[in-house]
Order: sequence, then structure tokens, then C-alpha cells
Amino acid sequence: MRWLEALTHLGTVAERVPLAPRTTIGVGGYARWLFRPASQAALAKALPLVPPEIPVRVLGRGSNLLVADGEIAALVVDMGGLHGIQVQGTTLIAEAGARMGRVASIAAAHGLGGLEFMATIPGTIGGGAVMNAGAFGHEFFDRLQELVWITRTGARVRRDAREIPHGYRHAAIPADAIVVEARFALSRDDAQAIRARMRAMRDKRQRTQPLERPNCGSVFKNPPGDFAARLIEAAGLKGLRIGGAMISERHANFIVNLGHATAADVRALIARAQEEVKRRFGVQLEPEVRIWEEAS
Ligand SMILES: Cc1cc2nc3c(=O)[nH]c(=O)nc-3n(C[C@H](O)[C@H](O)[C@H](O)COP(=O)(O)OP(=O)(O)OC[C@H]3O[C@@H](n4cnc5c(N)ncnc54)[C@H](O)[C@@H]3O)c2cc1C
Repeated sequence: MRWLEALTHLGTVAERVPLAPRTTIGVGGYARWLFRPASQAALAKALPLVPPEIPVRVLGRGSNLLVADGEIAALVVDMGGLHGIQVQGTTLIAEAGARMGRVASIAAAHGLGGLEFMATIPGTIGGGAVMNAGAFGHEFFDRLQELVWITRTGARVRRDAREIPHGYRHAAIPADAIVVEARFALSRDDAQAIRARMRAMRDKRQRTQPLERPNCGSVFKNPPGDFAARLIEAAGLKGLRIGGAMISERHANFIVNLGHATAADVRALIARAQEEVKRRFGVQLEPEVRIWEEAS
């Protein structure tokens, strides 16, 4: 395949790559092809070379991702190599593969506040943008000034954040867009005070979430005016196991991998929670976790 050969000059390419170790919950099959672009420019050159019939999927840290057990018949673009972070005055510019925790630490080191909540979220800037990730009353778009993405045709698009409709765990970024860079406007603050806020948030997370076991964060979005965890707990599902997966006993909106879970086990627990909550309370829970089906 000539297009695949061409991609080897723009980054690294591998075939049949297991995806479970690249997700935080640690389940799932493998990618037909995995491409790790060497730079944003290389990604822009690579995308138009991929035949239109080959689906392209983007992988950040895999912390909000459930990958099906078989083959993901797609070119999976691993953003891990694009992780540059620059600070210019009170502006911070981060590439999409940079981890949000590292971005928060670098902002703190420069005495720049506003991104403390990112210290508690294990994903990347790209995943955070697409999900409008948030915690402790703050969300990704609060300080976002501008986002840059590359489309399947290789076009580089720069958008003012105010022009991108967004809401709770949602941002209207085109389906074929690969986010490559985000620019944030931050506030000057005392570095010690910023670090203390980050520590307090992390401590709270340690107490309330089952962080000792592999998981994918909140499985469901909170329905308006309520909490998915409260509904799942009230339905008596805490501790329910299917195969190697379990609804966490500590936080009912988390599914944990007991060590030998499959994606099918996790999917079955998701379906069971949806059925039970719907039957008892008439509420349809909507997954927050993104699911990659086998076909693509
Ligand atoms: C322990 C734990 C705690 C968590 N706490 C929170 C929390 O407090 N708040 C919160 O909002 N989330 C939380 N999450 C979920 C997750 O960390 C966030 O949703 C995060 O933003 C996902 O980023 P990622 O890089 O891991 O994305 P991935 O899981 O790799 O991908 C998620 C989706 O984004 C797409 N994507 C990723 N990168 C790009 C890109 N560059 N361009 C286009 N699309 C892209 C993927 O294709 C996929 O559809 C938590 C997860 C865990 C495991």
C-alpha cells in the first residue's frame, strides 16, 4: 500500500497494534494501523494521503475510551508525539498530545492560574477539547481562546473559542477534525496558591474515585438536575460484576477492570445500568465514554 509507505516518512506506522495498554481501562482489541505523526505539519501532509474509504480515528490518552475487543479497522492517529507547551506572558499554547496534568503544572510554575482543575484529569489537550472536559466547577472552554485543527483534506483551521458551540461534555468540533493545538488566556497568581488548589483537588479525587483500579472515568453523563452515580447506586447496582468488570463500590459512575475484563463485559454493564435506571426512574443515561466499535 503506497499511502502507508508514504506515511512512514511523516511519522511512525505500525500494524495490528494492541490498544488496551493505550487506554486507562485496559480493555479492547487492536488497531489495524497506528500512525504517530512526527509534527503537526507531517499530520497535515499525511491525512490527504489516506484513501477516503479508510476510517481515521484519533487517540489521546485513551482515558475516555472503550475500544471493542476485535480489530478496529481504521488508521488510528496517536497524538502522543505532539506534546509541546509554550508560555508567552499570560498565554499558554499546548499541542494536542500534551497531558492536561502537565499543562496545569507548567501553568502553575509560571504563576498562571485558571487550569488547576486539569491536574485531576488524566487526558490530553485534544481529548479535553473534544469532550469539553471539566471538574470542580471549571471546564476546558472557560480559559480557551483559540483551537487549531487539521481536517481530512490537510487544511489547518484556526477558530476563536467563542465561535465553537460547546456545553456540558460537548464541543461542536467537526467529526473529521484532528485538534492539534489550544491557546489559553490565564491569570497571574501566586504559584504556591495555585499548587495548593491543585493538591486539594487531587486529594479530593483520591478519596472519592476508585483510582487504584483501571477505569475510564465517568461512564455516563449526569442527566439534567441529577447525578448518574446517585441513580445507579439507588438502582442497587454498586458492586455488580459481569465477567472481569465491576460497577465500582466506591463511585457508582465508574466501571473498573478487575484485571481480566473485556470490552464486552464493560458494554454489558453499561447496558445493564441503562436498563435498570430507565426501568426504575424513567431516566435514559447517556454514555460519556466514547465507544469504538469493531467495524471502524
Ligand atoms: C480516573 C479518571 C478521572 C477522570 N476525570 C475526569 C473529569 O474530572 N472530568 C472530565 O471531563 N473527564 C474526566 N475523565 C475522562 C477523560 O480523562 C477526559 O474525557 C479527557 O478529556 C479525555 O482525553 P483523552 O486524551 O484521554 O481522550 P481519549 O480518551 O483518547 O479520546 C476521547 C475522545 O476524544 C477524541 N480525541 C482525542 N484526542 C483528539 C484530538 N486531538 N482531536 C480530535 N479528537 C480527539 C477521541 O477520538 C475520542 O473520541 C477522567 C478519566 C479517568 C480515567
